[in-house]
Amino acid sequence: MTDITYHLADVRDRIRNALIDAHRDVDAVTLVAVSKQQTAIAIEAAFRAGQRHFGESYAQEALAKLPLLRDLPIEWHFIGRIQSNKTRPIAEHFAWVHTVDRLRIALRLNEQRPHHAPPLNVFLQVSYDTAPGRAGAGEAAVAALARQIAGLPRLRLRGLMSIPPAGLDPADIGAFYRRLHALGTGLSRDGIACTELSMGMSGDFEIAIAEGSTCVRIGTLIFGPRPG
Ligand SMILES: *Cc1c(COP(=O)(O)O)cnc(C)c1O
Repeated sequence: MTDITYHLADVRDRIRNALIDAHRDVDAVTLVAVSKQQTAIAIEAAFRAGQRHFGESYAQEALAKLPLLRDLPIEWHFIGRIQSNKTRPIAEHFAWVHTVDRLRIALRLNEQRPHHAPPLNVFLQVSYDTAPGRAGAGEAAVAALARQIAGLPRLRLRGLMSIPPAGLDPADIGAFYRRLHALGTGLSRDGIACTELSMGMSGDFEIAIAEGSTCVRIGTLIFGPRPG
């Protein structure tokens, strides 16, 4: 488990250096440790090394692990596809959701967020890929959806999230993230508070930070390759 401690320190260093290179505040980025397919023991090791934000992609898997870690003040982020029959446990157990991409899901999360909990922090997931079944709202739909989400009392719209399509030329990743940043800036200009950007993973987080990311989601670099 000492590996996790070293890996985390290394990732934090790299985030800090990327922020310095971009002339940004050294604490302008939140690191979400993506713990999907990792054990509760590995998560606890990262927690002991000072990590507080963790991301899970599968509701079923998270529901099995969260009770084992109940005593730790972890801030949980849901970063996977949301099926509408799984919104309740997400609304109940997570502090952040990065993957809201349609109104129906937002309405359910809003309705199911427990009243004793603070509003659920939400990123709206954007897709630039028009292939059917692809997660994320199309760019043209984002403004209306953001406005609707901003009006829901149990949700707090924080910003935009996107994942570059697999196989995107590495030379084009900066432009991809720049486009998301510009979309967020446009929304803020139109009066929709939507200033954060969830962008960047193990393979590209330094580029994302150069383009204004405020939240990176990193799994492999911290925990090693996922089994299977
Ligand atoms: C798995 C996953 C990550 C982490 O990917 P790594 O390449 O392991 O850092 C980040 N974001 C999302 C949405 C994921 O599903």
